Amino acid sequence: MNIRVGFGYDVHQLAKGEELWLGGKLIPAELGAVGHSDADVLIHVICDALLGAANLRDIGFHFPDTSADYKGIDSKILLADVVNLLEDKGYTVGNIDSTVVLEKPKVNPHIDDMKAILAKIT
Ligand SMILES: [Zn+2]
Repeated sequence: MNIRVGFGYDVHQLAKGEELWLGGKLIPAELGAVGHSDADVLIHVICDALLGAANLRDIGFHFPDTSADYKGIDSKILLADVVNLLEDKGYTVGNIDSTVVLEKPKVNPHIDDMKAILAKIT
């Protein structure tokens, strides 16, 4: 069995008037994440970790924030594309472990929903 491990890291500014998408779920929040896409930081780090494990560079290489194609895009679409890239190289996702650093809102009540959303894609 050939096991590869990747690491992802991402940070997004929070601001009023933005939505907070996390793990593919819209989370009710006072502040949302700023970004070119839907700014789903959790999906972005998962994409980076998967791409890195497969030696396929990173999310910015495949989905540049200078491209109008990705303006406001649902990051679940990016993750599905990443999974397809991995499958093209013969890889499958075995496990994902992620840490979110966020003071508020609490993420815990949304974890099961996020896991279900992400499991369908990966
Ligand atoms: Zn990001």
